[in-house]
Amino acid sequence: MIQALPSPAAVLERNCEQRSESRYLEQVQGSPDHRIVLFRRGRALVVSGGLAFLEPAGVAGRLPAGTVTVYLGQTIDSGPLPAGTHLVLKVVPDDAGELPWVPAGTFFSGYRDVGDTLGETDAAIFIQAQAVANWHGSHRFCPRCGAPTIPEHAGWMRRCTEDGSEHFPRTDPAAIVAVVGADGRILLASNFAWEPNRYSTVAGFIEAGESAEQGAVREIAEEVGVHLHTTHYAGSQAWPFPRSLMLGFVAYTDDTLAIPDGTEVREARWFSRDELQAAVLSGEAIISRRLSIARALIEHWYGGTILEPGEGPDREDAASVEPGATGHAPAGGRA
Ligand SMILES: [Zn+2]
Repeated sequence: MIQALPSPAAVLERNCEQRSESRYLEQVQGSPDHRIVLFRRGRALVVSGGLAFLEPAGVAGRLPAGTVTVYLGQTIDSGPLPAGTHLVLKVVPDDAGELPWVPAGTFFSGYRDVGDTLGETDAAIFIQAQAVANWHGSHRFCPRCGAPTIPEHAGWMRRCTEDGSEHFPRTDPAAIVAVVGADGRILLASNFAWEPNRYSTVAGFIEAGESAEQGAVREIAEEVGVHLHTTHYAGSQAWPFPRSLMLGFVAYTDDTLAIPDGTEVREARWFSRDELQAAVLSGEAIISRRLSIARALIEHWYGGTILEPGEGPDREDAASVEPGATGHAPAGGRA
């Protein structure tokens, strides 16, 4: 029902049961057919347009001490790699020096910089890799006793070296909400941290002991000062900052006056469908990127694809524009 959300189909078979067996990672890494995703300081090794999948022979013996290994899963569809290829993540310690041996043409990049240029599969792998890498980076010590923890279960658990307690990767739920008024307009917010003409849906972390719906209602009241009377869950998207799960809602209010909180939200603005499309086409308003859940929620409310500047109102199939090509596609036809 929501457009452009990532498909519910997995892009990797995570082999959750097998990966907890003690020798599974060893078996996978014993085969020359697996491929390596490299992470360093929150950035993945990429090539133009995709993740770099390194052959094990080029990596063997070159990773610095303290590198964490995580089994990511097995590719399901054929793409740059044959279906069934095992992927292993290597997270290099932050204090490691340069890695001069990485292949020519590859470079480390953050998700915010390259996310738009990745296909759906690589984007999902990037998000998975970054979420689990972030968790390892911040859980090196036991929260119960402070002793060091070490990875087990192919990188999907850490065990305390003192008390043996088991710790699993966390996911932080956040509510992201498209607010619709009684007159059918959408309420979008502009944050102080953004360009002044960028607008998006409001999002915030759900607190301990709070339902997702309660979190959505509270966040909207706090940030834009309107009361929601109805919330509809619409779909979710994993997001790697730091390891969130964005729970998307379309929600309704009878309030017409929106009051930005003045600390995070600079402006809260109502748009009709025609007003929003016109503002985006003219450049007066910039909205969230395609493939984001924020964009999917906005376009769900809109009832179709919102055209970007340069795409032209006569364009029939703007949704076919490749991620990253936004704004550069010729009007009225496929790139
Ligand atoms: Zn402990």
